[in-house]
Amino acid sequence: MLIEHLNRQLRERAEQSLTRQRRTTLSPCGPHARVRHEGVERSVLAFCSNDYLGLANHPALVAALAEGAGRWGVGSGASHLVSGHGEPHDALESDLAGWLAPSIPGAKALFFGTGYLANLALLTALGDARATLFADKLNHASLIDGGLLARADMQRYPHGRLDVLEGQLQRCTTPIRLIVTDAVFSMDGDLADLPALLDLAERHDAWLIVDDAHGFGVLGPQGRGSLAHFGLRSERLIYMGTLGKAAGVAGAFVAAHPTIAEWLLQVARSYIYTTAVPSAIAHALRASLELIAGDEGARRRASLQQRIRQLRAGLADLIARRPSLGWRLPESATAIQPLIVGDNERALSLSAALEAEGLWVPAIRPPTVPLGTARLRITLSAAHAEGDVERLLAALRAAS
Ligand SMILES: *Cc1c(COP(=O)(O)O)cnc(C)c1O
Repeated sequence: MLIEHLNRQLRERAEQSLTRQRRTTLSPCGPHARVRHEGVERSVLAFCSNDYLGLANHPALVAALAEGAGRWGVGSGASHLVSGHGEPHDALESDLAGWLAPSIPGAKALFFGTGYLANLALLTALGDARATLFADKLNHASLIDGGLLARADMQRYPHGRLDVLEGQLQRCTTPIRLIVTDAVFSMDGDLADLPALLDLAERHDAWLIVDDAHGFGVLGPQGRGSLAHFGLRSERLIYMGTLGKAAGVAGAFVAAHPTIAEWLLQVARSYIYTTAVPSAIAHALRASLELIAGDEGARRRASLQQRIRQLRAGLADLIARRPSLGWRLPESATAIQPLIVGDNERALSLSAALEAEGLWVPAIRPPTVPLGTARLRITLSAAHAEGDVERLLAALRAAS
């Protein structure tokens, strides 16, 4: 019965072109990858990772991870509150608190296994029955799931509609109000208007939770992220950054008012009931922070910006010449560049046509994005060369 029930649903998904498939990478993360799919191995040029600075296979970080493993072994052995909390975790948390201190006075940082877990922790631990959560409808799935698990009521506002949010805040009667937003929206690449959101938070005695998965390491001076990019500073900011994207390793952290960090440590189930990420990872992350903030990080951010400008100029030109395609390139100044093509089959066939040319660009379909906005989600990295982007543009011109 169960298997029939599942098979019927799997068939329905297949009929709607919604079946998801994995490809197996045979090489380290990078633009030029070896990939196996359905038994066939090939070399591809990839535009799909979130390794925005090209650090995931950086020799200095590979060496730091190996060195960390040499000093602290590979497993942490237990959760942070039992015996898994190592000296490198402590040091990393101090580093991260220092990174965010200009934006959040007196911030303390807490390191998590993943961004998904950090978001669950934040929303369930802060979103108790005395709170209301206000969330942008395009927030990442982990924030949505956190909101669903929380005792607090969650009100969602249409993407970027701060007028609707303001009405919700005005009508809210709970003593605690938490506005929750992606800083860079993960499927569209656009930036939330964080200054206006913080202003709303201040005027309505609310707190602003910012998920900077795609901004940390990329935006702002020294890659310090979206808060620094906008020059924001407030105790009302609660920051979540992930460390498996631009930082090139794994993990995530929350930086916030010390009382908030302490509360998470005491009660957040996704912090407490999970084995600590190995110390070696924390050690490698410290090396990554140093790279990101230094000259090499600055050079990598500058190359990434060049690739973004190159891709957008090429796509704008293609769209202008072929308006009948109905393709759209939304405003995005970040490494995430969505080319919206509309229906699922079109997105899939375009992705397949690119794949036939040795280009790996994923098609993103509902329910990940709203119905009718299936897209190619092109992500750029500092590791892409000018010729790589040119090859993608040429293949898109040929497939259009
Ligand atoms: C990737 C992502 C997460 C989850 O982070 P992981 O460390 O991959 O679990 C959370 N929020 C946003 C916006 C993301 O893009």
